[in-house]
Amino acid sequence: MADDPLARFARLGIRREQDLLLHLPLRYQDETRITPIAALRPGQHAQVEGEVARSEVTGRGRRMLVAELRDASGTLGLRFLNFYGSQLAQLAPGRRLRVSGEVRGGLLGLEIVHPRYRQVEPGEPLPTRLTPVYPSAAGIGQAALRAAVRKALRAHPWPETVPAGCLRELGLPAAAEALRFLHAPPADADLHALEDRSAPAWRRLIFDELLAQQLSLKRARAARAERSAHPLREASGVERLRAALPFRLTAAQARAWSEVSADLAAAQPMNRLVQGDVGSGKTVIAALAAAQTIGSGMQAALMAPTEILAEQHFAKLGPWMAAIGARIDWLSSSLKGAAKRAVRERVAAGEVDLLVGTHALIEDAVVFPRLGLAIVDEQHRFGVAQRLALRGKGGPLPHQLMMSATPIPRTLAMTYYADLDVSVIDELPPGRRPVLTRLVSEARRDELIGRVRAAVAAGRQAYWVCPLIEEAGEEGSAVPAPGAGAAPPGAPRGARAARVRREALELQTAIDTHARLSEDLAPLSVGLIHGRLPGAEKQAVMDAFTRGALDVLVATTVIEVGVDVPNASLMVIEHAERFGLAQLHQLRGRIGRGTADSVCVLMYRAPLSPTARERLKTMYETTDGFEIARRDLALRGPGQFLGARQSGVALLRLADLERDAVLAEAARTCAAAMLSSDRQAEIDAHLDRWMAGREDYLKA
Ligand code: ADP
Ligand code: MG
Repeated sequence: MADDPLARFARLGIRREQDLLLHLPLRYQDETRITPIAALRPGQHAQVEGEVARSEVTGRGRRMLVAELRDASGTLGLRFLNFYGSQLAQLAPGRRLRVSGEVRGGLLGLEIVHPRYRQVEPGEPLPTRLTPVYPSAAGIGQAALRAAVRKALRAHPWPETVPAGCLRELGLPAAAEALRFLHAPPADADLHALEDRSAPAWRRLIFDELLAQQLSLKRARAARAERSAHPLREASGVERLRAALPFRLTAAQARAWSEVSADLAAAQPMNRLVQGDVGSGKTVIAALAAAQTIGSGMQAALMAPTEILAEQHFAKLGPWMAAIGARIDWLSSSLKGAAKRAVRERVAAGEVDLLVGTHALIEDAVVFPRLGLAIVDEQHRFGVAQRLALRGKGGPLPHQLMMSATPIPRTLAMTYYADLDVSVIDELPPGRRPVLTRLVSEARRDELIGRVRAAVAAGRQAYWVCPLIEEAGEEGSAVPAPGAGAAPPGAPRGARAARVRREALELQTAIDTHARLSEDLAPLSVGLIHGRLPGAEKQAVMDAFTRGALDVLVATTVIEVGVDVPNASLMVIEHAERFGLAQLHQLRGRIGRGTADSVCVLMYRAPLSPTARERLKTMYETTDGFEIARRDLALRGPGQFLGARQSGVALLRLADLERDAVLAEAARTCAAAMLSSDRQAEIDAHLDRWMAGREDYLKA
């Protein structure tokens, strides 16, 4: 340890001495002035200087150390509930101390509990700079961090990497100057602007971070453009499929398809996201892309985040593929040994044209001899690494098509999409009726039972969505996306155990809800579907519901994505206040798929927290996925919104994409300018400062 002073900072993500410069203060202490004791006010954070008038250990059982500090204007109590023996000497009467902390009204006048203190000589000069307080970890003291940063600041002059033109317009200072300022602000610096990060020095570093992100994304994109892909140009399969479709493409679908089709024909790999609200008809775009791929003699793969969704795609795409004479197959982790091996062998022998499945596609060493297209449905449910894994390694890259119903607001899109081309399907297929949304207190459950019966009597079907179990001490919005897989790496065991407990409770709730509804709704047939059901049983339940053999389907959020049963026109969501906005929107998207009027009932339990009320109100007021996403972002902030598993966006350390939207835009422009003028050395240096060793960022 002693030989490598940096080793102990590794836990703070600091690997090299220069990384210390970007280890920026959380806040500051003002030790540049002394407040006379008589002028202190409760609640104030202050520094005083005086002599210890007396000190003693008091109390029985739980002992504490109390002292009295006196200056020319008055006396102040100091209290230590926990103390070391050595503190008795440090606080001995007659010692001259500089003391700081938060002042509060105690029993015997003003006091500071657990003040920071330091012995000083009379007349010792005050610091002329604010004292930084750094993010730290157990065993790493502020004094050590401050000394290490000071040393690093001297050792690394931090030459400018950003063209002056980019900075001038924004009025940003030089990077080296900004760093010196933030690590040691002058006494007269605006503490407010420092703490809320609006000071020009902060804005400069936020800009640099956003610039680094843009540069790395654009580089990844350029690197991809250098890679080759098989151009897929044969249109006969597409024509046959279009002729076999039971509907005409909407104008928006036709536009998206022409963009995808043109990308597939190129010799560079496509990297396109088709974004369209729930029910806008993205699947057919995937089918057409597969048809163009297969027609051109290559294989296609489609990966979906849940087994139910993968099954459903398999069922829907089967007849379409048959119409063009293509062979489709299916792989999921629920498939057992021999059957799974057989699928893998058929794929490897080139006997499968389109393989549909779950994560099993990337996890089970499936080898495609001629993979031309990788499709990822509901791509926001996958991590970056998972999406990229499907593209395979070496040789020409397959084209990649992603589909998502989670619209990303503009401010996020700017960074998130830097690596992607986007097609938007902004129109629903004709004949759809907007879903009516009702908010109903759970006290009116009986009335809802009547509604379900009425819907079934009218020949319709209904979903009844089971409540989520709330995480202890947390509010509904933070419920992680189900199906998103394991807890994030590094999640503490406690969190894992809590998740397992919560899932078990959710399962029990689903079973209880089903039992109770079966009674309440007798003699209607009520099915149950949840994530723990074995694959074949899930499939059987979904088939029965699709056929109309079940009137009502009690479900957990496993039906959140993709499930498509047009005859279902009523959905009841129990304890809707516990669901996040994106989840509610996805769930509601399961109905309104047929021609009947559909109703979504959000059943809630009062009292509602302010954010829960806001979420339900949003659901009531709009069905527009973009508007919902915008409000969701406002309620949760970008990190939560995208989830930590997403691309670099969520991992920005300083920038806040809402607050710093102007800087983000400027960083994007500046990155483009740097890449088009020959500034390779600066770009390398900039990326090295911000990105070296950061595996969490998107790579080429
Ligand atoms: P999503 O975008 O949510 O994945 P889907 O692809 O599942 O939507 O499509 C929703 C439903 O709309 C499906 O039943 C699909 O067959 C149907 N559909 C798609 N496009 C059209 C269209 N142009 N006209 C009529 N129905 C369509
Ligand atoms: Mg879909």
